[in-house]
Amino acid sequence: MVSDPYLGKYTTCISARSTDREILKKAQDGGIATTLMVYALEEGIIDGVIVAGEGDLPWKPRPFVAMSRKDILKAQKAKYNISPQISWIKEATRSFGLDKVGVTGVCCQIQAVRKAQLYPINMRDVPGKIAFVVGLFCMENFLYDSIQAIVEDHTNQSLSSVKKMRIGKGKFQVYTERGNVATAPLQATHKYGQPGCYVCLDYVSNLGDISTGSVGSPDGWSTVFVRTRVGNDIWSKAVDAGLFETKPIEEVKPGLELVMKLAKIKLDGNRKTLEERRNFGVNKALRDPYA
Ligand SMILES: Cc1cc2nc3c(=O)[nH]c(=O)nc-3n(C[C@H](O)[C@H](O)[C@H](O)COP(=O)(O)OP(=O)(O)OC[C@H]3O[C@@H](n4cnc5c(N)ncnc54)[C@H](O)[C@@H]3O)c2cc1C
Ligand code: SF4
Repeated sequence: MVSDPYLGKYTTCISARSTDREILKKAQDGGIATTLMVYALEEGIIDGVIVAGEGDLPWKPRPFVAMSRKDILKAQKAKYNISPQISWIKEATRSFGLDKVGVTGVCCQIQAVRKAQLYPINMRDVPGKIAFVVGLFCMENFLYDSIQAIVEDHTNQSLSSVKKMRIGKGKFQVYTERGNVATAPLQATHKYGQPGCYVCLDYVSNLGDISTGSVGSPDGWSTVFVRTRVGNDIWSKAVDAGLFETKPIEEVKPGLELVMKLAKIKLDGNRKTLEERRNFGVNKALRDPYA
């Protein structure tokens, strides 16, 4: 078990991609989140999973409880604006009648799941019914209006024509249905970041059973951290079943070094913001949720 102050605890880190062509075709990266949840559903490890599906506006996510492969696939691709995943966590154990709940989400949402398990405040039945948690890497997130401004004002594309958005190599990249690629420098997007993200001290979903993101691996592949006993068990069975192609992270470029570099930028920067909050105003600090 590796225990790293920036990357959390993990047993293995690999580069991987799904072998399921249907999933891979529409995946954000290597299709890890979708393939794992479909596998867990088909194996009876979960009986439903909270995912970020399509909302009522283009690229506005709507969390929902998916209970079939078809529905899990509806949540493919990253939507870079807030999807309140945890709003369904209790309801999943009520009207949906789930006993084994799966959750996908970014780092803060995975923290919320673990907190609900350990400190279940008005969360009856939830702690024992969380079966499998897949966390995504996350540098920052945006409000819907902000993503609209970034795409429509900075890359000059209409949101409804966008096929995929990506953040990488210092750019916010937009791929359109008609084959255009438009970019905005990442620096131009920073002022749109959700302020709550600037006190976030987790980059690679340290509390997931498995966590995954794009950074560190080549295009079309994902970087994967396998962290808990639950995660190890599911990952090894899924690899044995031929669901993933894998490569040791040491053999791919840019590899773990870049993940570490970005984790440091995020965590060290946000620690400074927390410090400023402690010294904000005259004799009246702003609240520190970690105190
Ligand atoms: C806001 C945000 C910021 C990110 N920042 C980074 C980053 O800095 N570095 C990095 O390497 N990777 C980042 N990622 C993760 C990356 O973009 C991919 O989501 C991840 O690699 C999963 O790819 P996949 O092919 O396995 O997912 P797919 O198989 O395509 O499935 C997509 C999964 O993402 C979930 N999802 C989509 N949108 C949201 C959302 N808004 N909130 C919660 N869950 C969502 C869906 O429920 C689904 O499980 C970010 C993702 C998001 C949503
Ligand atoms: S930066 Fe942190 S707080 Fe913001 S969305 Fe990502 S995980 Fe959540």
